[in-house]
Amino acid sequence: MKGKLLVTLWVLAVLIALSTGDSVAGTRVVGIRYWTAPDHTRIVIDLSRASVYKHRTLTQPHRIVIEVQRTVFANKARRINVKDGLVDRIRTNALGSGTAQIVIDLPESPTYKIFSLDKYPKRGKPDRIVIDVLRAVSESEREAVRKRVKELKEKNKAIVVIDPGHGGEDPGAVARGKIYEKDIVFDVCREMAQLLEKEPQVEVFLTRKGDYYVSLDRRQEIARQMGADLFMSVHVNAAEARKVRGAEVFFLSMKGASDAAAKALAEAENAADLVGGASAGARSDIGAILYDLNREGTLRKSSQLAELVHAKLARSKLTRMRKVKQARFQVLRTIEMPAVLVELGFLSNSADREELTRSSHRKKLAQALVGAVLQYFEQFPVGKPAVHVVARGESLWRIAQAHGTTVQHLKDLNGMGSSNRILVGQRLRIN
Ligand SMILES: [Zn+2]
Repeated sequence: MKGKLLVTLWVLAVLIALSTGDSVAGTRVVGIRYWTAPDHTRIVIDLSRASVYKHRTLTQPHRIVIEVQRTVFANKARRINVKDGLVDRIRTNALGSGTAQIVIDLPESPTYKIFSLDKYPKRGKPDRIVIDVLRAVSESEREAVRKRVKELKEKNKAIVVIDPGHGGEDPGAVARGKIYEKDIVFDVCREMAQLLEKEPQVEVFLTRKGDYYVSLDRRQEIARQMGADLFMSVHVNAAEARKVRGAEVFFLSMKGASDAAAKALAEAENAADLVGGASAGARSDIGAILYDLNREGTLRKSSQLAELVHAKLARSKLTRMRKVKQARFQVLRTIEMPAVLVELGFLSNSADREELTRSSHRKKLAQALVGAVLQYFEQFPVGKPAVHVVARGESLWRIAQAHGTTVQHLKDLNGMGSSNRILVGQRLRIN
């Protein structure tokens, strides 16, 4: 009996050894994809499993050569014409030594980053090698942006940065039939931008203008560079429980999430860089460093903005509303400006999904969100302190509530000392 067991174990060990050896030799390149962004072109090599690779550049003509060892191509040799100004084409060669060679032809000597990403099973992502060919931004281009922002600020324009979640390599939430969060939110955000462009006092920017990945840090950086007065990140949710539905509005919490679901969602959205592949070390934890006095005012405005978005969506009856919540979203750590993250519904719920995939519905959602943005700037006009004219029957407490502030803050701003007395028709500074 004992002998038989030993033999069985021994056979098993050999089988394991064989199968590991076999799969190392059998690594396959299962796909090559690329995305063109304004500041880089990303090329992704999908592998059936992690593998060792080398890379180098060659000149005449300019090339990046990547060699993945002990790997074969799942498909025949191919040529992908990119021609986007940064990359000419991508070619594959199966070398005799059992090495898969990928050649990236370039118009000029490249600046690039290369890194590998492990399997991300939750979103069905295989092991990948990612190559970002970077476009150098010249000092004159940077200067042009600074000048533009300065002009907008001088004209007291309300600068709105809208952030369509995910993109490119990172689809966000996924539903059967190739329904991707990245596409739905992009459509809503583009619609929002079109509506806001019609407003003379508003200048609007999108953090991405197409289907490519933008790291969470880069999204914040764009908002900072553009001197945003308001930042809105737009997403669509998914949950294990299929009956969960409705829209949610979040603003940043430094303390923590308002409930377990909010925490789980923040973690899922923060993982975008794992899926989308920000290069290692790209994330900086600015949250703790920049915590200052201004913070409280910004948080209060964010909370007020969240309430306005919630109210607009609720009144539009476009979707069921869940509560306004706080959570630690990486993308909301833009603490210099009021910022909210909106989840427009659940792709995992059939009713929500049906609505979100209808373009007329997305248009209406965009209208509601824009309505909230405009209302926010009525309350907090850019360039001048917000003023509230006291109406009959109002108390300081009620006014503070309506503007998402505190009685003490109003008293300090208006030099009221210890008195709570206000008069009908009195103009109170709000911020
Ligand atoms: Zn998302």
